[in-house]
Amino acid sequence: MSAPAIGTAVAGLRGVRTAAGEAVDVLLDAAGVVTEVRPASAAPVREGELALPGWVLLPSAVEPHAHLDKAFSWAASQAPYGDLPSAIDSWCGYARRLTAEDVDRRARHALTRYLAAGVTAVRSHVDLPRDADDPLCGVRALLGLREQLRDVLDLQVCLLASSLADTAALERALDLGVDVLGGCPHLADDPVKELTRLLDLAERRGIDVDLHTDEQLNPGMLTIRELARQVSARGLTQRVTASHCVSLGSLDPSALADVLAEVRAAGLAVVTLPITNLYLQGRESAAPVPRGLPAVRELLAAGVTVAAGGDNVRDPFNPVGRADPFETTSLLVTAAHLNAGQALHAVTDAGRTVLGLPPAGPFQGGLADLVAVQADDLTDVLAGATGSRVVLRRGRVVAATTVERHTAADLSPPTIGRSE
Ligand SMILES: [Zn+2]
Repeated sequence: MSAPAIGTAVAGLRGVRTAAGEAVDVLLDAAGVVTEVRPASAAPVREGELALPGWVLLPSAVEPHAHLDKAFSWAASQAPYGDLPSAIDSWCGYARRLTAEDVDRRARHALTRYLAAGVTAVRSHVDLPRDADDPLCGVRALLGLREQLRDVLDLQVCLLASSLADTAALERALDLGVDVLGGCPHLADDPVKELTRLLDLAERRGIDVDLHTDEQLNPGMLTIRELARQVSARGLTQRVTASHCVSLGSLDPSALADVLAEVRAAGLAVVTLPITNLYLQGRESAAPVPRGLPAVRELLAAGVTVAAGGDNVRDPFNPVGRADPFETTSLLVTAAHLNAGQALHAVTDAGRTVLGLPPAGPFQGGLADLVAVQADDLTDVLAGATGSRVVLRRGRVVAATTVERHTAADLSPPTIGRSE
């Protein structure tokens, strides 16, 4: 297939496979909504339709937790391979010379990767670097990109409040039009005091909340429980998300069950970031090395919304990463022991819940925010087997990648996937 032109309004996707393995035709209206999904027909492909036999069609993905202001700063920061405190040190050194132009350039590069990989919605945290000439430079750069790219992807900007920033400085940043209030109470000298300050601010402004919560392995660090208790006690109605929550993976089963009941009752969503937390945590242990993951299956069993993302991409917090949701799904299967459906849900529908976006996907009435991947079946997609992808947002092509491969011999059968 030759790649469709960017901006093309697509009227239908013909002969694609669903996540369940059925060959279907998916019809879209001019507003970018799916009007019908029916068994694939042999009727001629009409103008505006894409014939995609041999491709799997899924909802487009969500990156619920990026750091676009940090992305692709690994080389320039000269960070060592290290743990979270080491990465914070390296980043703070780099951030002294941060400018809006630098953030804009690296964030665009990252967003291009996300979009090509099938991501049409991103929530990015952004720092207020105290020692930069303009501490608001990152906020301004990302808010500018949010507006410039409004027709291409949904970008939410979350202020990553430091406990060292006074509340007036946070208010000034929020006044610029930030979407979500974030922070790192577990890094503060007094985590409960910092958590209370941030929730006071969020309550006063009615803004959604997404906190870095307990990004370390100490089971005694349970800011998430205090978060759940305060959200319940205050009766907050805005969306509240706890990201990372790594210490949940160190709790014994009965203590975990108690905490998860409070998290569920408070309506918190949890975002897990496998690639970055597998990189940052557990370095102090020779053997056995603990996994830097929350108890993902137990969270799901408790009825908690669990979304997953990549967090950092090639910066002091994670020197690798592809900005690819199917890299995350692969890790969810291997390191978090999810099945294919759970892994897909974490990078699609659950992410939309966290961001407060309407449902999307190949079903009647769904927004046509879609990604088609040249693959045998869902497992082949989640393994990240191919880069050939077509990405639609509201029914229009926003990214198209085709990969050509040449080998000395074709050793593969036409299909090697399994349909069950
Ligand atoms: Zn983060």
